[in-house]
Amino acid sequence: MRKGDTQEIRRLNRRAILAHLRQGPLTRADLSRLTGLAKSAVSRLVDELLQEGLLEEGAFTSPPVGRPGTLLHLRPGARFALGAELGVEGTVLLALDWRGEVLWAKEWSHPREAGPRERLERLLQEVLPHVPGPLGLGFTLPGVVVEDRLLLAPNLGWKNLDLRPLLSHFPLPTALENDAKASALSEVFFHGEANLAYLVLSTGLGIGVVSDSRILRGAGGAAGELGHWLGQGHKPCACGRVGCLETELGLGALLEHYRSLGGKAGDLEALLQQAKQGEALALEAIHHLGEALGRFLANLAVAYDPARVVIGGKAAEFFPYLEQSLRQSLAAHAFLEAHRSLPVQPSLYGHLAPAVGGASLFLVRFFELGGLWAESPRRNGGRYEEVAFGDRRGLGA
Ligand SMILES: [Zn+2]
Repeated sequence: MRKGDTQEIRRLNRRAILAHLRQGPLTRADLSRLTGLAKSAVSRLVDELLQEGLLEEGAFTSPPVGRPGTLLHLRPGARFALGAELGVEGTVLLALDWRGEVLWAKEWSHPREAGPRERLERLLQEVLPHVPGPLGLGFTLPGVVVEDRLLLAPNLGWKNLDLRPLLSHFPLPTALENDAKASALSEVFFHGEANLAYLVLSTGLGIGVVSDSRILRGAGGAAGELGHWLGQGHKPCACGRVGCLETELGLGALLEHYRSLGGKAGDLEALLQQAKQGEALALEAIHHLGEALGRFLANLAVAYDPARVVIGGKAAEFFPYLEQSLRQSLAAHAFLEAHRSLPVQPSLYGHLAPAVGGASLFLVRFFELGGLWAESPRRNGGRYEEVAFGDRRGLGA
């Protein structure tokens, strides 16, 4: 057997052990049974992982059936990645533990006219105190992203940007992804969903579709920009066209509608507070959006037949007030009987979801590599280099 083959087998075996331990604590005997590996091989690999600080030993178990043994856990905080969302409303930066826990998060706003250079320079200043340590920084943008290029982000007013020169200043590996696709990826990674539609609904509307555990990208990576699906409306869209769905379903339209009813709120947060206090106009405007979203989800179900829909972005915080009219509308307009009760839920990470998705780009890769990432932290002119991995996009891509 060639050396490369044994290394690859070692990676795959470590990956299998870590994948099983992500589901919960297990003994060495459990791991041997679940992976089909010999007990001696499991012991050797577990020793390795313990030495690297990835695992820790917990309680000794003596189950009524099966072998007694010491439970092994993924050690909390053993590895983490940074995630950032460069959104329309502001920037979110956070650290995500490899077990999915947000370790810290920070948010800041920016002048409306701030361009990519200004925003990435500020991000760099915020990231520097945390390096070295994280596996990498994955960040997300509300637009069409292909590799390190942003083709179009209408709500930011950014177009045809090669971000590589700006990213080269960051002293850690970076990755870039569309916000909805990254959020959908984190759902696959943390909850194992194989068929899912993830809506990032804030000012704009983007969709990440997961089909058979893979993110739908299309030929050029642009699949999912359903906010720019042309509807019947007549309002101008940030993309320069007229009547995109986003002009009806985006939260900007919600705020506008609320004001047209006579409501007084300067921004979405103020509107949310009005809803929390039960103000009638706020609830009316939100119910109206819920009705429109229900119809949209009925269409989405026809197109992709997801097993579950997750709503992220600022709309996740409006969900308690949207839910009733959304479900009624979905039930009324569903094409198939099964779609009437399609599970729809707000993102557990709330408005942090895109940044969590950004960080998961690196956590996914780390697990794919069986945790062999840190084994070659080669320094190259102050920059960490990633170890090579076959599929650049990793799981679900
Ligand atoms: Zn548009």
